[in-house]
Amino acid sequence: MSKNSDGFSTRAIHVGQDPDPLTGSVTVPIYLTSTYAQADIGKHQGFEYSRTDNPTRSALQEVLASLDSGLGALAFASGMAAEMTILALLASGDHIVLSDDVYGGTFRLLDQVLARFGLEYTLVDGTDLNAVRAAMNPNTRLVWMESPTNPLLKIVDLDAIARITHDGRAKLVVDNTFASSYLQQPLALGADIVVYSATKYLGGHSDLVMGAAVLADQETYDALKFHQNAIGAVPSPVDCWLLLRGLKTLAIRMDKHDENARAVAEFLDGKPGVRRVIYPGLPSHPGHELAKRQMRGFGGIVTVEVDGGIEGASRFMRALELFALAESLGGVESLADHPAIMTHSSVPKEARDAAGISDGLIRLSVGIEETVDLLADLDQALKAHG
Ligand SMILES: *Cc1c(COP(=O)(O)O)cnc(C)c1O
Repeated sequence: MSKNSDGFSTRAIHVGQDPDPLTGSVTVPIYLTSTYAQADIGKHQGFEYSRTDNPTRSALQEVLASLDSGLGALAFASGMAAEMTILALLASGDHIVLSDDVYGGTFRLLDQVLARFGLEYTLVDGTDLNAVRAAMNPNTRLVWMESPTNPLLKIVDLDAIARITHDGRAKLVVDNTFASSYLQQPLALGADIVVYSATKYLGGHSDLVMGAAVLADQETYDALKFHQNAIGAVPSPVDCWLLLRGLKTLAIRMDKHDENARAVAEFLDGKPGVRRVIYPGLPSHPGHELAKRQMRGFGGIVTVEVDGGIEGASRFMRALELFALAESLGGVESLADHPAIMTHSSVPKEARDAAGISDGLIRLSVGIEETVDLLADLDQALKAHG
């Protein structure tokens, strides 16, 4: 049905999702099958075995490719499964340039698993283009970046990094989980591979764990498709269906996340007890102008540092009523995370302090509840914090 020129939400609702020819069902059927009857030996309708291909997953992959204007997309059992399969394209002795505040699980995969297989990496501050250039080696195959980063929401110049990457004949992977395809289009900025934890904004309802990769060129797509089947970290058809449903409302959800996060950031900024507010939408954020250029909005994550270290953070977080104390992000419900103890505890304290992940830091995943209710909750929690 819809062409790639159609608007974002039109594609999210229609691409790969024509009414079912058998029944007219307007939603894609969930094909709960492992195998497919063949008319004759080797004569089938494009589906042989569900690790290789499944119609519900195919529909999802089609719409995911369209939303990032990619040549193709592949779905995986989790964001980490997508990352592992991408990294399996490399070989022993290959080198990766990695953002120094990359998602903890990505660092752990390289540092504690793939290093044993001879993959090398160098950590760099992605906002320092000279450092990225200096880290490129003759054996550098990938540059791996996030923007905005987690939890400090640094904004990385993806267009400039893509040029440096391609000068070094490497490929740029962008983990676009925090922005989503609605707020940021890395392939249009020069990236070669976009990777997602679809568990977060793409799914959007905190009800599934899934990952995806979107590819810009045929050769990389073919290689990753081969590895998707060879490694087998594929999602179930039920989860593919849940993600298809989540994607239909991605644009309106992201607009509301963005609106609420701006309101939360402005509300907290300068309040007594609040040491600093980090949000790319605030003009005081060092990446504000760059974010305006490369993103459609600033996203739903607000990081705030309160007075009183761990004690202060815990008084504030205990008092929150609407914001649930939980890891993860990107769902319709607001969540509060304490990076130093919860999501980033595997980073040693000295490294956390050096990076600016202090004990008073709280990461808010601002949901799509009524704005005034969120502000009222934060207001009463700040009073309790004292
Ligand atoms: C959660 C997350 C991942 C890992 O995805 P899972 O679905 O949890 O495996 C990767 N990158 C970022 C930025 C994330 O937030």
